[in-house]
Amino acid sequence: MKMFINGERREASDGRTIDVLNSATLEFIDTVPAATEKDVNEAIAAAKEGARYWGSLPVYERSAILNKAADLIDSRREELAGSLSIEMGKIISEARPEVRVAAQIIRGFAEKANHLYGQTMTDYQVGTEHDIIFTRHEPLGVVACISPFNYPVELCSQKYAAALAAGNAVIIKPSTDNPLTVMKVAEILWEAGVPGNVLQLVTGAGSDIGDILSESPDIAAITFTGSTAVGKHIAEKAAGTLKRVFLELGGNDPYIVFEDADFELAVTGAVRGRVQNAGQTCCSPKRFLVQNSIKDAFIKRAVEQIGALVMGSPLDDKTELGSLISAKAAKTVDEQVKLTISQGAKLICGGTFISETYYAPTILEVTPSMDIAKDMECFGPVIPIIGFDTEEEAIAIANQTMYGLQAGVITKDINKAIRVAAKLECGGVVINQSGNYRHLDQPFGGRKMSGIGREGVSVTLDEMTQVKSYILRNILE
Ligand code: NAD
Repeated sequence: MKMFINGERREASDGRTIDVLNSATLEFIDTVPAATEKDVNEAIAAAKEGARYWGSLPVYERSAILNKAADLIDSRREELAGSLSIEMGKIISEARPEVRVAAQIIRGFAEKANHLYGQTMTDYQVGTEHDIIFTRHEPLGVVACISPFNYPVELCSQKYAAALAAGNAVIIKPSTDNPLTVMKVAEILWEAGVPGNVLQLVTGAGSDIGDILSESPDIAAITFTGSTAVGKHIAEKAAGTLKRVFLELGGNDPYIVFEDADFELAVTGAVRGRVQNAGQTCCSPKRFLVQNSIKDAFIKRAVEQIGALVMGSPLDDKTELGSLISAKAAKTVDEQVKLTISQGAKLICGGTFISETYYAPTILEVTPSMDIAKDMECFGPVIPIIGFDTEEEAIAIANQTMYGLQAGVITKDINKAIRVAAKLECGGVVINQSGNYRHLDQPFGGRKMSGIGREGVSVTLDEMTQVKSYILRNILE
C-alpha cells in the first residue's frame, strides 16, 4: 500500500519499501514505503495548512465527518478484522471487537467534542467586577500520532480521533510490523470527508523517521503509545521544541491473588488475561503474586487451563491463542524465559517454540529478586508466579518495578481490595479481574515509567486542545 501525503497516495521519494508479512505463516503480504526525510517534511508542511482549515470548521461539521467514518468502519468490520488478523496473527475473535471498538472511539470523541465547554470566571477578585472572562478549547495545530503493533487499529484511533475531533491535523505513523489495517482505516477517514492535508499517514522505521516528527517545530504535540525506551527517546527529542508529549508506555503489571479469592475466577482471570493477544497487551497481568497457602493449587489449575487452550490459525473462530508479531518477538520471549530459568526459576510448563512465531504458553515459578519480577516486560504468553505470605509483602513486590500501568486484585474481601488498590503505584486497579481491562471513557495511563498523561474519551480532548482565556475588560461598566 502507498502512504498518504497531502491528499495523494505516494511511494517513498527514493522508492524504498518495507515488507509486511503474515505473522502466523511469515508469508509476504504487501510492501509499504520507507518514507524519506523529504516525504515526512512534505507531510508536515501540508499538515500545517490542513490544521488551519480543519481548526476553523465548526465542530458539528468535523463530528459529522468522524461519525460517517465510524459508520463506514462498522460496515467494513469483517474485512478490516480479517486484514488485522492476517497481518499480525491476532485471533479473529479478538480482531472483530478491536475494529468495533475503534469505531466506538471515533464516535465517542466526536460526541464529546460537540460538548467541550469552556468556563466563565466569577468576579470574586476585587477590581474585576466589570470584566467578563471566558475560556475556549482551541486546537493545538499538527499532532503526530505514533502507534504500536499490538492493538494497532484501536490504539491509533485513540489518537487521531481525539486530535481530529478537537480540530487538529494529524500525521499518523503506524508500526512497520502491521501498518496495513491502519492504512485501510485512514483511507476510510478520507472517504468520509477528512481532507487529505488534515489526515496524513507516513510509513517507515521509527528509528529512521521518528526524530523528524519529534524535533519538528511545526508539530505541536506527539501522542505516542509504545515501549518505554522509545517513549523516553521521543520525550528527549521533543524537549527541544517544548511540544506536548503524551506517552502510553510499557508495563509489568501485578495480579495479586489472596487466599480468600474465588479460586476458579482467579485462575481463569490469570490465564485469560495473560494469553489475550498472545500475551502482547500493555496492561495484561505479567507478574502473578499468589498467596503461598493456595499457590500449588493455583499452579496445578493454571497448567490444566493452559493445556486446554486451542492454538492454531488466527483466522479460525475456535483458535484461542494466535502467533506473536514476528520471529524476532518470539525469540525475545524465549530469551527472557531462558534468562529467568538461569536466575533460578522453576519451569512448570511451556518454554518452547511451537513454530517461528508461535510460543508455547509458559508457567514459571519465580522469586521477587528475578528480573521478570521487577522491570523486565515480557510480551508473550508467559505466567511468572511469585508466592507471598502477607498483604504488605504483596504490595511491596507489586510496587518494586519502574512500571505502573494497571493491576488486578483478587479477593472476596472488598475492604482489603480497596486498601491494597490504594497502595499500588499504578494508573488503574481492577478488582476481581486482571488489569487487562480498558473502558473507552476511562482515563487510561500509567505512573512512573509507564507514561505521562491519560487517554480516554473522558480526558483526551483536554490534552488535544489548549485553553485560551478571553478577557473583556470593563464590559459591564
Ligand atoms: P515500540 O516502542 O517498538 O514502537 C511503537 C511505535 O514507535 C512504532 O510505530 C515504531 O515504529 C515507533 N518508533 C520506534 N522508534 C521510534 C523513534 N525513535 N521515534 C519515533 N517513533 C519510533 O513498541 P511496540 O513494540 O510497537 O509496542 C509494544 C510496547 O508498547 C510494549 O512495551 C507495550 O507495553 C507498549 N504499549 C503500551 C500501551 C499503553 O497504553 N500504555 C499500549 C500498547 C502497547
